[in-house]
Amino acid sequence: TKSKAQHYIDLEDKHGANNYHPLPVVLEKGEGVYVWDVDGKRYFDFLSAYSAVNQGHCHPAIVNAMNDQAQTLTLTSRAFHNDKLGQYEKYMTEYFSFDKVLPMNTGAEAVETAIKIARKWAYEKKGVEEHKAKIIVAENNFHGRTTTIISFSNDEGARKNFGPYTPGFIKIPYSDTEALEKALQEENVAGFLIEPIQGEAGVFTPNDDYMRISRDLCTKHKALFIADEIQTGIARTGGLLAVCGNCSCEAHCERQPETYARPDMLILGKALSGGAYPVSAVLADNEVMNVIKPGQHGSTFGGNPVAAAVAMAALEVVKDESLIQNARALGSYFRSEIQKYIETTDTVTLVRGRGLLNAIVINDTEDSDTAWNICLRLRDNGLLAKPTHGNIIRFAPPLVMNKEQLDDCIAIIIKTLKEF
Ligand code: PLP
Repeated sequence: TKSKAQHYIDLEDKHGANNYHPLPVVLEKGEGVYVWDVDGKRYFDFLSAYSAVNQGHCHPAIVNAMNDQAQTLTLTSRAFHNDKLGQYEKYMTEYFSFDKVLPMNTGAEAVETAIKIARKWAYEKKGVEEHKAKIIVAENNFHGRTTTIISFSNDEGARKNFGPYTPGFIKIPYSDTEALEKALQEENVAGFLIEPIQGEAGVFTPNDDYMRISRDLCTKHKALFIADEIQTGIARTGGLLAVCGNCSCEAHCERQPETYARPDMLILGKALSGGAYPVSAVLADNEVMNVIKPGQHGSTFGGNPVAAAVAMAALEVVKDESLIQNARALGSYFRSEIQKYIETTDTVTLVRGRGLLNAIVINDTEDSDTAWNICLRLRDNGLLAKPTHGNIIRFAPPLVMNKEQLDDCIAIIIKTLKEF
């Protein structure tokens, strides 16, 4: 007889497109830092749905906001006004200190939105010749899965046989400001689209001053500095945003210009809803955002009343529960404990990250299955994480974790690694 878990896995295999390779565990419930499988076994969630569930699973304040709004008004489309959108837009623009917000649903849609705005800005404000605009991106980027976005990926699996590709992108090495300065000198550059830390690439953490220097270079060459903070934003890396550098104030601000690399466009998603609902957004000031006029961009569900209510509740939780400060304190503690273990072993070569977005690199090749096998064993030991490559494991628990829970997690991780 087959297990309950196998039953659900078989259903997906038989009826679902085969576009994912999940860890074999079937979850049915979540609360805070925990998830439970269909047999009632409890796990620490160390992925947080790729940093969407920063506020913890099924946070009551977020769920209540969602329920209340779902019972009142769910969708008007943008053909009509509703009483939630304007409130949300005011809240968002004050929270993140930008003039305007453009609401979308998924991360990839928000990235597409930023690309469209950057191109239009280049033609209408910078005087770039029509159809010639270029956007600079980094090698090993991950910005989503649409046709345009995969056009500038260098992941073969993400690209192969999905061409023809969208032109207009220049790829440069990550964390390389010399390469950026050179690329910015090319003609017709609209902007620089960048992840402050490359999450999918394996929590690839750049030099400390990379964002700030990039910001200054973009200003110097009149190109838009566009930060994709879909994975790094909203407290994950121990700042409201990763571009905030070492500032941990609740709303980002201009108080620490030496560390805050203010983007011209800020792209958010994932934790903007605490994982309760698909909500994404692009923020910019008038000079940039006003290039978009009625009929030129939109989405049926973008900025709908449920999304608006959920996002405001999710951002309140970030402040109320001091998630920025918690992510920063627990993150450095986590790295220092893992570092102590690394000094005693050959299994792991390094730990890196910022706040509670971290990864370890396993001492094996990229095409090995060691990281996968470690994740299976972590699962058996009560903790869920996922490899990003054959030899990298990302560790990104919900930010509502406390120190005792993190100590339990560190014990599970070290115990598991010692089995390899
Ligand atoms: N950009 C970054 C930096 C991401 O990490 C992701 C998702 O992992 C995306 C964009 C795409 O977001 P979505 O999967 O919601 O389209």
